[in-house]
Amino acid sequence: MDACPVILSAMSDAWSIMESPFRVETAKAYEGLFTLGSGYLHVRSSLEEHLSGAPQNVSYTRLPANVTSERFADTKSKWGTYVPGIFGRHPLLNNEMVNLPFFLGLAPMVDGERLDMENDQITGYRRELRLDTATLIRTLCWHTHSHKQVELTFERFVSAARPYLCVQRLRFHCDHEAHLNLHLGIDADVRTNGYDHFKSIELRPRGGLGCECRVITDAEDEILVATRLVYHLPRDANCELSIRHEQAERACTVVTEASIKEPVGRELVFEKRSAVTTSRDPVRCDADGWLDIVADQSYEQLHAEHAEVWKRRWDSCDVVIEGDEDSQRAVRLSLYHLLRAHVPDDPRVAIDAKGYAGEAYWGRYFWDTEIFLLPFYLYTDPARARTLVDFRVQSLPGANENANRYGYSGARYAWESDADGRECCPNWQYADHEVHITADVVYGLAHYARATGNVEYLHGPAARVILETARYWMERLDWRKGDGHPSLLGVMGPDEYTPISNNNSYTNRMVAFALKTAAEIGPAAGASPSECEAFAAAAAGLPIPRHEDGLLALQCEGFDLLADPRFDELWRDRDTTFAAQVSQERLYRSKCLKQADVLMLMMLFPGEFSDAEVRRAWEYYLPLTTHDSSLSAGVHAMIATRLGLMDEAWRFWMRARDIDLDVEHEGAAEGIHIANAGAVWQMVVLGFAGMKTAMQTDLLSLTPRLPPTWTRLAFPLVWKGQPVWVQIVPHEVKVVNRGSAPVEVQIHDDCRVLAAQTCGTWQRRTHSSK
Ligand code: BGC
Repeated sequence: MDACPVILSAMSDAWSIMESPFRVETAKAYEGLFTLGSGYLHVRSSLEEHLSGAPQNVSYTRLPANVTSERFADTKSKWGTYVPGIFGRHPLLNNEMVNLPFFLGLAPMVDGERLDMENDQITGYRRELRLDTATLIRTLCWHTHSHKQVELTFERFVSAARPYLCVQRLRFHCDHEAHLNLHLGIDADVRTNGYDHFKSIELRPRGGLGCECRVITDAEDEILVATRLVYHLPRDANCELSIRHEQAERACTVVTEASIKEPVGRELVFEKRSAVTTSRDPVRCDADGWLDIVADQSYEQLHAEHAEVWKRRWDSCDVVIEGDEDSQRAVRLSLYHLLRAHVPDDPRVAIDAKGYAGEAYWGRYFWDTEIFLLPFYLYTDPARARTLVDFRVQSLPGANENANRYGYSGARYAWESDADGRECCPNWQYADHEVHITADVVYGLAHYARATGNVEYLHGPAARVILETARYWMERLDWRKGDGHPSLLGVMGPDEYTPISNNNSYTNRMVAFALKTAAEIGPAAGASPSECEAFAAAAAGLPIPRHEDGLLALQCEGFDLLADPRFDELWRDRDTTFAAQVSQERLYRSKCLKQADVLMLMMLFPGEFSDAEVRRAWEYYLPLTTHDSSLSAGVHAMIATRLGLMDEAWRFWMRARDIDLDVEHEGAAEGIHIANAGAVWQMVVLGFAGMKTAMQTDLLSLTPRLPPTWTRLAFPLVWKGQPVWVQIVPHEVKVVNRGSAPVEVQIHDDCRVLAAQTCGTWQRRTHSSK
């Protein structure tokens, strides 16, 4: 067969992630990896024509389990359409984000033969996610059984300028006379985690070229999806077109039939425009109405306004790495998903654990938000960070309800939160014990206030959260006889393989922080002086358990007395998690760690631990840590950088950097590891560039330690309201103050004040690897 003359788009570069060739084994991983979204609306990148034998309406009962070792439904493709905040009621798993009707279908049939990526002969296949413009482009040449060569280019974007809108385009060219059928519609026959959340579905044709779907979910949310065909037939296309509608119980389709005649003319261009609106929208609008509004705009115009928004986004946060294209591309991929997954101007939602790209964690909000995601937004676009902290403020009633359900006063934030702040975690171990989230929320609020310089935030909107969570803690504390200090008993720290432990160091330190903050802020929220004194005393008393050598901070009391994990014997396949190979009981009685716990504490409170203590913790915990959680590698990379263990830092950097890109090991099949994406940014800026956060210092302080191959690292920041640009090259650090007020900058230990609109350069000190 001759090579097909498909015109390829731009070569792969550091702004693009490429799939080539197509393999069904990795289809689901790319589906998650290439998710597009506007914040408001997210769609996994399922193929327009779908794959045969991958029904999306299979009902099954997903059971509460340890998701780290859970085996997900075995399917080649998983459609996913998500609008943040649309949660449905699940009888067993509690509220979960609902997978909405699928509207991407745009399936070509030539002479009665349907495009089938798995079984047909395809050449020149290439699918590319353009990170700069958030556009997905697929080009291929399809060799049909009737010996025709069909060149196809599919493009799509979810408009950043009009967040309800998704625009798709298909360019079609066949080398012979042919009969083309194009099926495009809306398919509401979908499930979420095997469950049907649709109480009612109405479908109808709309206008000659479109159709519309109205769904009412089991939580009474109304979802409207409208889709419409737009086509452009040049006169010399030599083609006749007719259109009809087909309707099934849960799907409607617009079928376009085109007879392409000899001599074969130019390519045919079809567009599919879809809009989704819901009853949660601040201003309710008919989805079809959005399509009317853009009816006069061309694909190019719509794409240009979308790309313009993305350009502004990239200007605020792009990280440039020279000397290592793989790292450059991977960092941009992380930033792309961080930019996509954030819902602009909407404090009613945060960012779920899978970045609105899959259903693994039911679309819920975790401590990931405060600890892993928030720093990126805080230091690149504080307005986005504001919605995340406001989310916790506005979901305080949910946290009150949780405290009440557990028999406490005040507020208890949910380990797995829905949009109303209610505890949704179906597993009692985590729901009952992973209480550090309540203190992490306060840490996040304080971080917002310090990073932006908006200290009033703590005395204003955040004050009630701080006070009410402190009230919960005061009841949650135990005072054991003879101790002389308070304790937090029966908790699970960040390491989820040590449940129901006493005085977890991370939790105690976070709670001490939250109580101390409450002692300071309390009066603003109406706390009495004696209540504030009690907060302060409890904060001062919470212990960090130590090993008898005095140097090792113990994860919790008695951690060193737990059983040896016996990894050599029990963890045979290091390509899968330890949790998948042993029972939960074995995890719980041994010293194995799922993820960083004490090291996490040392990362957040670095000034409180000497290098010797950090090194002792590193040496003790690292051999015990499975990294079964994707939240582990990034923290290890940052601690390794602090210790000057640059080979280790690099090893963990590579591991974290490639988590979603590793399509051979599922990658993003169940969604993006968005906390890890946040950690990728942190590894670069807080790790390799060595920036201290505003929780650690008042000045912009950097101590760079770059990987040896990086010849240049540059990124913008916002430091206490002032836009700043940083560039690190082998011998020099340059900081430009692009703001209107002076910024105090410290590089290594050399501190200077940079006046507005000026820059400074520092000689770099090199650190030898320890
Ligand atoms: C981790 C948690 C994390 C959650 C969601 C779990 O596997 O152990 O720390 O919050 O995933 O990302």
